[in-house]
Amino acid sequence: MTQVQTAIEESFARPLTTLSEDEQMFRDSVREFAEGEIRKRVEAMEEQGHLDLAIMKHCFDLGLMGIEATEEFGGSGGSFFQAILAVEELSRVDASVGVFVDVQNTLVNNAIIRWANPDLKKKYLSQLATEKVGAYALSEAGSGSDAFALQTRAVDQGDHFVLNGHKLWITNGKEAEIFVLFANANPDAGYRGITAFIVEKNFAGFSVGKKENKLGIRASSTTELILEDCKVPRENVLGEIGRGYKVSIETLNEGRIGIGAQMIGIARGALEAALSYTKERQQFGKSISDFQGVQFQLADMATELEAARLMVYNAARMKDAGQAFVKEAAMAKLFSSRAAERITSKAIELYGGYGYVKDYPVEKYWRDSKIGAIYEGTSNMQLQTIAKLIIGK
Ligand SMILES: Cc1cc2nc3c(=O)[nH]c(=O)nc-3n(C[C@H](O)[C@H](O)[C@H](O)COP(=O)(O)OP(=O)(O)OC[C@H]3O[C@@H](n4cnc5c(N)ncnc54)[C@H](O)[C@@H]3O)c2cc1C
Repeated sequence: MTQVQTAIEESFARPLTTLSEDEQMFRDSVREFAEGEIRKRVEAMEEQGHLDLAIMKHCFDLGLMGIEATEEFGGSGGSFFQAILAVEELSRVDASVGVFVDVQNTLVNNAIIRWANPDLKKKYLSQLATEKVGAYALSEAGSGSDAFALQTRAVDQGDHFVLNGHKLWITNGKEAEIFVLFANANPDAGYRGITAFIVEKNFAGFSVGKKENKLGIRASSTTELILEDCKVPRENVLGEIGRGYKVSIETLNEGRIGIGAQMIGIARGALEAALSYTKERQQFGKSISDFQGVQFQLADMATELEAARLMVYNAARMKDAGQAFVKEAAMAKLFSSRAAERITSKAIELYGGYGYVKDYPVEKYWRDSKIGAIYEGTSNMQLQTIAKLIIGK
């Protein structure tokens, strides 16, 4: 049995949040890295608006950039659930590092593991697992929720395609060297012309455009990508020509669980900060956590977080077990992003005025939580998926 199969077998007998020995060791190592190396850099990375090079290198050294890639490709040979644990633990300290690792694993590597032929896997997965950052480029200025309306075009020239268009909002755009990028190779066929390509940063005609100045996850880069007669070799088609819509839907179905993990990590960071602060802060001659009104708010936050965590863990374990998980993934993302917004907002209130300033960590958790309702499908899009699956239309 493979490591992943053993983990699945073992997990059947366990409560959802009880980790196997391997999972626990993995979680502890990520936590140690987050506490020891990331926490002291969070403020500077946030102010400077970029990730520290040492942190990115550490992510590769720890095997966090190729969690599901097998050892043959230099990866860790872990499960999807482990990727979820990593994103949660990192986001508890810094959601920007969380999404850096999340996009690499749940979108870029996942698409390649699932759809690439052996040659592409050998060439790109091994680089992604060990040294190169990846990005996932679907959205454009005019196509977000309506992703299949994308305007980037790919013209077949025999041994290569020529791509023209602009991508917008691309996470890791500044650091990435390998892009899973979607373009329409046959606009007359509508969405059935959409094709996924692997594009390298150094391909002629490819450049990185404007970097966004954002509300939250400020150390995570979000950029425009520009394709001007960008020549992409034919062998870099990921999956089949005209099947890119399937690559994008199926990858994002999994990716959403990763965003759920980012959200429960953020919420846990904020709750832990609030628990500690309310014990220290004295008013009316005692700790504010001695007031039942404050205790009830903390209890509500913890309960909501527990529900969100159960949903995220369940969706991830369903995915690893090969069960249908699309509805559960959409529900987990929807619920956990709402929970994170509420929990982080309540944490600010429990800090009082101190919660509103940048000397304390909770305002950042709140700003970071907002993105959960937007990327990898807005909350309305999650509701649409859930509705479709429960109503059956
Ligand atoms: C920080 C950040 C990072 C991102 N990273 C990436 C990335 O790495 N790769 C990538 O490809 N994209 C990325 N995105 C893009 C993201 O996925 C899109 O922003 C998102 O899908 C929403 O698209 P939109 O911004 O065009 O909003 P729109 O689609 O214009 O939506 C605007 C509003 O209309 C609502 N709406 C739209 N259609 C419907 C409908 N049919 N029914 C009900 N409501 C509807 C939406 O729910 C939303 O509230 C990122 C975005 C951000 C902000």
